[in-house]
Amino acid sequence: MEHYDVIIAGAGSMGMAAGYYLAKQGVRTLMLDAWDPPHTMGSHHGDTRIIRHAYGEGKQYVPLVLRAQELWLELQKAAGTKLFEQTGVLSAGPTDCPFLQELRESARAYSLPLEVLQAAEVNKRWPGILLPDDYYACLEPSSGVLYAEACITSYREQALAAGARLLTNTPVTSLSPDGAGVIVHTASGTYRGERLLLSAGAWNPALLASLGLKLPLVPTRKTVAWFGADEELYSADRFPAFIFNLEESMYYGFPSIDQAGVKIGRHDGGIEIDPDQLERTFGAFLSDEGDVRAFLETYMPQAAGPLRQGRVCIYTMTPDEHFIIDRHPDYPQIVIAAGFSGHGFKFASAVGEAASELLTRGSSTYDLSMFSLRRFCD
Ligand SMILES: Cc1cc2nc3c(=O)[nH]c(=O)nc-3n(C[C@H](O)[C@H](O)[C@H](O)COP(=O)(O)OP(=O)(O)OC[C@H]3O[C@@H](n4cnc5c(N)ncnc54)[C@H](O)[C@@H]3O)c2cc1C
Repeated sequence: MEHYDVIIAGAGSMGMAAGYYLAKQGVRTLMLDAWDPPHTMGSHHGDTRIIRHAYGEGKQYVPLVLRAQELWLELQKAAGTKLFEQTGVLSAGPTDCPFLQELRESARAYSLPLEVLQAAEVNKRWPGILLPDDYYACLEPSSGVLYAEACITSYREQALAAGARLLTNTPVTSLSPDGAGVIVHTASGTYRGERLLLSAGAWNPALLASLGLKLPLVPTRKTVAWFGADEELYSADRFPAFIFNLEESMYYGFPSIDQAGVKIGRHDGGIEIDPDQLERTFGAFLSDEGDVRAFLETYMPQAAGPLRQGRVCIYTMTPDEHFIIDRHPDYPQIVIAAGFSGHGFKFASAVGEAASELLTRGSSTYDLSMFSLRRFCD
């Protein structure tokens, strides 16, 4: 049986980044993935992800995202590939919107650049937007868009160059703690690691079950779609990425990058799924196109052109929509990175670094207290 210092079960957004930070320190690292990352089976495809620094989900996230931004820029430099586009991010909502209030407080607490704009100013500055009078918006000029698949490819190349081993198309079938280490079973071989990172995205519940741990993780079917849009209004050199908090729903989207059209998705809702039985055809449900088209027709009508393409992807939700980054309560040699609840990609670089610290030192320089799994299993 081959032995490693650390084995990573799931080399996607979080796992591939962790693999790089481990290998860079000379840790003998084996990364196992069920497919060939980046790929379209999990949570990281569809070209782009928004990175916001002021954080409506909680100001505690700001130090983590600022470190993540630094690490993305370092990776971009090392890889010599464009990974980050500083489009700015516009967050809009009703005047009493708690998300926007928290976002503004987080910007104040960490002195982040933020412009607060009334509806009329928004509609004048971006004529492609029709914001109602009782809404307002916050523009974060320093935030923007990450090219998610290129980020994973870059981490993969850098991790391999630093000495990590990657086995693709090698699903982990079960995990058995073995003294102070872990035995990892796959269809094609068995490996022993002194430590293990469990970062299998929507498949974490199945692998956690083999470790006797049940966490409230809910894989959810999500879709995104690209629509033909007036390039004069919505191209990335003049239009920001955006998040709209409506009274009962939340939409996010991207300017038209390289004339691909405006990409848009609905953040709230979605149906609970078994990731092995996922309906992967975009358009299988009327709401796949209907929801986002209705949003565009109301708030960005010149971006509601023909449907160019659609994708089906997976969120893995926790009940409070905060992440789980922690050691297994019974097996401290196992670190779990799970439940990124549809907003994790922007943090993947920093989560990878934090996980590498937990795996090598048993603790992290990051404050990970809000991501403790004990909130679900005490
Ligand atoms: C449509 C959509 C839009 C999003 N938009 C944003 C956004 O704008 N900003 C943002 O920050 N976040 C966003 N997110 C969320 C973000 O993409 C996810 O939180 C993040 O990608 C989760 O990373 P992960 O490593 O947990 O999962 P993944 O990246 O899916 O990685 C898990 C890996 O585990 C592998 N795996 C699974 N089972 C096994 C097994 N048994 N053995 C070995 N390997 C296995 C998979 O093949 C996969 O490569 C979005 C997500 C979706 C779906």
